[in-house]
Amino acid sequence: MTLIEPVSSLSIKKAVNLYTIVLFISFGVLLYWLASDRYQVFVNFHEDLASNTTKIVAFETSKTLKEKQRIIDIFVETYKDLITELSNNPDDEEIRQKIENNLKKYQPDFFTFNIMTTKGEPIITDFDADIGELCFADLRHYIETGRQNIRLHRNHNENHYDIISEYSAGKTKQLFFVSFKINELSDLLNSTQPEKHTLILINKKQGNLIEITPQGSQLKINRLDHRMDGGENLRTLSTTAVKGTSWHVTDMHNEGLFDNYRKKIIKEYIVAFYAFMIIALFMRNILINQDEKRTTAEEQLKKNHKQIKHLNHQLETLSRTDSLTGLYNRRYFDERILSEWNRGLRSKQTLSCILLDIDFFKDFNDFYGHQAGDKCLKDISIVMKDTFRRAGDIVARYGGEEFIIIMSETDKKDAESAMTQFQKELEKLEIPHQTSPINDHVTISAGLVSCKPSNETSIEEFIRKADKALYQAKGNGRNQYVIYDPLEKSE
Ligand code: GH3
Ligand code: MG
Ligand code: MG
Repeated sequence: MTLIEPVSSLSIKKAVNLYTIVLFISFGVLLYWLASDRYQVFVNFHEDLASNTTKIVAFETSKTLKEKQRIIDIFVETYKDLITELSNNPDDEEIRQKIENNLKKYQPDFFTFNIMTTKGEPIITDFDADIGELCFADLRHYIETGRQNIRLHRNHNENHYDIISEYSAGKTKQLFFVSFKINELSDLLNSTQPEKHTLILINKKQGNLIEITPQGSQLKINRLDHRMDGGENLRTLSTTAVKGTSWHVTDMHNEGLFDNYRKKIIKEYIVAFYAFMIIALFMRNILINQDEKRTTAEEQLKKNHKQIKHLNHQLETLSRTDSLTGLYNRRYFDERILSEWNRGLRSKQTLSCILLDIDFFKDFNDFYGHQAGDKCLKDISIVMKDTFRRAGDIVARYGGEEFIIIMSETDKKDAESAMTQFQKELEKLEIPHQTSPINDHVTISAGLVSCKPSNETSIEEFIRKADKALYQAKGNGRNQYVIYDPLEKSE
């Protein structure tokens, strides 16, 4: 029987543990990679989205600024006379009202209008003291440089910006400018801008800024300088020229925009990792349990195998042993004599055989009983085993009270001396045999034969010769051995 050698369970446990750790690490790395990838894809997508929508807003804002400039220019051209009239009579409420009404038709969202001389002296003004100064400074700047400042001016209520239009009144030049609410642009931004993005219009050269957030415009003066720098958070999306100025539309991207999303991804992947860990540990335990079970089964199998081997050995011993005497049985003897004979054939060594029979054993049984007979057989067997104990000696029970001994590589002389020795030992036993007509004790008759195995003769012949000699011993009065003599063969 061949058995698969069980793999050391320790090494399997180690391998499973190592495998589990490697699995954890690689899965962790994979999750990390997937999470960063997912996050990056999301961020890229949103940045694209933000960039595109901001571009649209930038375009729309530029368009709005230009359009308003154009409208004011047309309005001034159309109502030049009325405006001139008001310039000449600044206190004429009627004319002022007329201009306002007409301006409303052109620009329903107008905030206010003012008229100045090209020297910067106000003719019609509704500036309030604070912010009015800023507008005033801008106008002076325009007059001096010919470049228009567009700046977010904070009024009492709302932020606004000014659009200036120049016109001639007679020989003099005058300025007409209108302030607009900034909310219009905020609404535009609200409808298209992604959350947390701030659109700002910057005129870097002029140091001007319009900031438009989805919540409406909020000018934070202390942030102005930073934004003017065009720091890293700013992306210039477009540059628009509005009446001699250059306006950069920039997208101010909030760095913490995707923080929540990142946290969500991390949470999701941590949950995934833990779930995986639990499954992996569960699998690991199953594997190790299975292995332990297998190892136990293999150990049991090994034990069984050993037991079977032992039992087989016992069975084999039993199958060749005579149960009463413990000597070899007839069947095994037949096997062995064949191999010894063949060996003798090859080695050309002498083989001896002694056939023994207890004298008057029937009488012994009759007198002492069968059990005593059995004991007698056993005792004689022990002596026999002790006497014929050489490696090549085979002692077997041949029949009821008959025994046979094969002595390989043993000539007649040696066989004889062994036989004589046995007789002496048997005598020493002194098994009483009252009904034996020849002796007070149990005696034995034996026939002895020695020969070199050859193809001319046979095992049967060899044993027959021993039997013949035994027969002679019986005939000669028992309690003796007779060596087979070929000369007496004819008798
Ligand atoms: P002889 O001297 O001519 O050999 O006479 P014998 O009585 O020994 O020979 P016989 O063949 O007439 O009788 C043999 C007896 O051996 C018969 C039988 O009762 C007895 N015997 C054979 N086997 C056993 C056994 O296993 N146990 C016992 N107790 N007796 C046995
Ligand atoms: Mg007999
Ligand atoms: Mg007998």
